[in-house]
Amino acid sequence: MWCALLLAFVLVAQTAPHVQPLPLFDVHSAFWSNLHSYLHALTRASAPLRENRRFIASLAPLIERHGAAIAKPLAASFDAKWPARPIPVDVVYDAGPPGNAHTTSDPAHITIGAGDRRYQDLAALEVVFHEASHVWDMVLMKGVNEAAARLGVRAPRDLWHALLFFNAGVITAAVLAAAGTPDYRLYVDVEGMFDRAYKGWRPAIQKHWPEFLAGRLSRDAAITEILLEITPRLPGIGDQFGPGISRQAFPLKSCTPDDGPLTTAPWTELIPDPCP
Ligand SMILES: [Zn+2]
Repeated sequence: MWCALLLAFVLVAQTAPHVQPLPLFDVHSAFWSNLHSYLHALTRASAPLRENRRFIASLAPLIERHGAAIAKPLAASFDAKWPARPIPVDVVYDAGPPGNAHTTSDPAHITIGAGDRRYQDLAALEVVFHEASHVWDMVLMKGVNEAAARLGVRAPRDLWHALLFFNAGVITAAVLAAAGTPDYRLYVDVEGMFDRAYKGWRPAIQKHWPEFLAGRLSRDAAITEILLEITPRLPGIGDQFGPGISRQAFPLKSCTPDDGPLTTAPWTELIPDPCP
C-alpha cells in the first residue's frame, strides 16, 4: 500500500509543470533608442566634418602655391632637408590644448584643429610649417641650452619655441611677400605672444635671427647674441660673459670671404678675428 502511494507521488511530481523564476533584468538592445542616438551623433558630427573639409580646401592650394618655397629654407634652417615622404597631417576639429595643434617627430605626424579661429587662411599655412618645424625642434633646444651653458646664464624656458615660432613665421612671410602679399603678420604678433609669454624678446630675436637666416651669422652665434640681450649679465665680469668664459670662445663669423656684415651688436668689434 505505502509503496503504491510513494510511486504515485513520484509520478505526479515529475509530470507537474516546472515554474521558472523570472530574470532580474531584461537586457536587450533598444533599437529605437539607438537609432535616435545614432542620428543625433551624425547631426553633431557633420558640422566639424564640414569644418575639416573647409580647412583642407583652404590650405591645400596655399601649400601647392607656396609650400616648396617655404619648405626648403625652413628645413635648411635646422641643417636638414625636407623628408622624402610627405608628412601626414591629421585635420581634426579639435586637437586639444595647449595649442590645438601638435606634432610627433619619429615618425613625423602633425595633428591640427581645423575649428581653431587662429588657424585660418594664411595663418594655417604658417602653422602647418610651424608644426613641421617641431620635427627638428631639438636643434633649437640643444642650441639654446648649450649657448646658455657657455654663457653661464639661465636660458628662458621657452626661448627655443619663440625662435621656432619666429623662424617659421618670417620664412612664411618672406615667401608670401615675394609672391605679392607683403603685409602678412606673423602668428606670434597677431596673438601678441611677445607681449605675454615671450615679453621683451622680440627686439633681440628680430635683430639677430634674420642675420642667421641670411647666412651672415651662425645659428649658435645668433642664439648667443639673443641670450646676451634678454638674460641678465653676470655682474663684474669685464669682457667675459661668465666665469672662465671669454668672447674669444664665441667666434661669431665664419671665414667665408663672401660673408657680409656679421652683426650690429656693439660688442662684436671686441671679438678677436677667428679667420686666419
Ligand atoms: Zn610649437
